[in-house]
Amino acid sequence: MPEMQRDVYDEDHDAFRDMMKEFIKRHVTTEKMQQWDEAGEVDRETMRLAGEHGVIGLSVPEEFGGAGMLTDYRFRSVVNEELVRVGAGSSLAGAVGIQDDLAVPYIARFGTDAQKQKWLPRMATGEVLGALGMTEPGAGSDLRAVSTTAKKVDGGYLVNGAKTFISSGRTADMVVTFVKTGEGNRPDAFSLIIVEDGMAGFDHSRTLHKMGFQGHDTAELSFSDVFVPDENLIGGVEGRGFVQLMENLPLERLSIGAVAAAVGQAALEWTLEYTANREAFGQPIADFQNTRFRLAEMATAVDAMWAFVDRAMRLYERGGLTADEAAKIKFWCTEREWEILDQGVQLHGGYGYITEFPIARAFLDARVHRIYGGTNEVMREIVARAVTGRK
Ligand SMILES: Cc1cc2nc3c(=O)[nH]c(=O)nc-3n(C[C@H](O)[C@H](O)[C@H](O)COP(=O)(O)OP(=O)(O)OC[C@H]3O[C@@H](n4cnc5c(N)ncnc54)[C@H](O)[C@@H]3O)c2cc1C
Repeated sequence: MPEMQRDVYDEDHDAFRDMMKEFIKRHVTTEKMQQWDEAGEVDRETMRLAGEHGVIGLSVPEEFGGAGMLTDYRFRSVVNEELVRVGAGSSLAGAVGIQDDLAVPYIARFGTDAQKQKWLPRMATGEVLGALGMTEPGAGSDLRAVSTTAKKVDGGYLVNGAKTFISSGRTADMVVTFVKTGEGNRPDAFSLIIVEDGMAGFDHSRTLHKMGFQGHDTAELSFSDVFVPDENLIGGVEGRGFVQLMENLPLERLSIGAVAAAVGQAALEWTLEYTANREAFGQPIADFQNTRFRLAEMATAVDAMWAFVDRAMRLYERGGLTADEAAKIKFWCTEREWEILDQGVQLHGGYGYITEFPIARAFLDARVHRIYGGTNEVMREIVARAVTGRK
């Protein structure tokens, strides 16, 4: 397949991509991916190897042992592209993404020096895995309706409540948890606090069974009078949690858009290969005009997604990725991803429905891209507010 002309990468990214391919050849085998699917999580040794090879920890600042790429998403995108291509989008790519895009940034951007010292070096090596706990059984899109509380007591906080749908929640050693530290639902009523595995009253063992993302755990968390010391309050000051979330959400949404583009590209590649080799009525199905037109549409959509994502990566690096630009990327790319996958499944015929085929698994995995990270309806609301200037 002719490569799309993308001008965001330089020779450092090309070298990193070569290293990724080598890492995948050695450590992301078909057997490993099967094991992850069966276990519902990526094994710790692979996460450690990912740390050793610089696949995880890209967003950790250099002084704490990472690659210092918190505002440069290009290396992260290379990780996504290569893992998705081999079918590890629903396992290792997810686990790495949660660490680098959802957990590390809160410590790296807003943590106290002591918090950075304590967590970041071990997050860079993959030894400590993090998660981000915002959503609750009764509050998803409407985040300010959360009811998990952190009540001030001597030397710390008592946390009570529950979170649900937390990616990496079971495997996490620490969860950056969105809690209420004040009354009402004004932005300053919320804080982020680190709840650690092993703290008395913290249970993160209940796994949720999903239609896709089989190799990556999603869990319910419950907090029953969990004592969390003052030193775990992110940034050391109460009332900043909502603003901290809002500041990092553009990165989370860029990351989902970039994954969607990577999945779209992989789906196109799988479908090109399949339709070239499958015959019907004495000819490759790639030669039917309908197939040619669908492949042309898919390829065009993939190019458009990359053009959009690459622009967003540049904006992000310059500090200019606004909430509405990030919302556009998230909803538009995941909608195109969905259409591309649907076409790809159709062109695979019956095999497109069989989960031995990567296109079928990617289809199941991708459904959640239009839901998490803020639903696509909420994304359209954010864009509409910016476009119309009306609340
Ligand atoms: C596999 C998976 C992994 C996840 N990982 C995490 C994670 O790591 N951390 C975390 O905190 N959360 C996570 N989530 C939660 C996810 O972000 C939420 O499910 C999502 O934000 C939607 O919230 P909800 O499920 O409560 O749906 P609701 O908010 O109840 O929404 C239900 C429907 O109503 C619509 N709706 C709501 N408000 C509006 C509105 N204003 N206008 C129009 N329509 C609206 C929604 O678009 C949706 O269609 C994950 C979810 C899944 C399924």
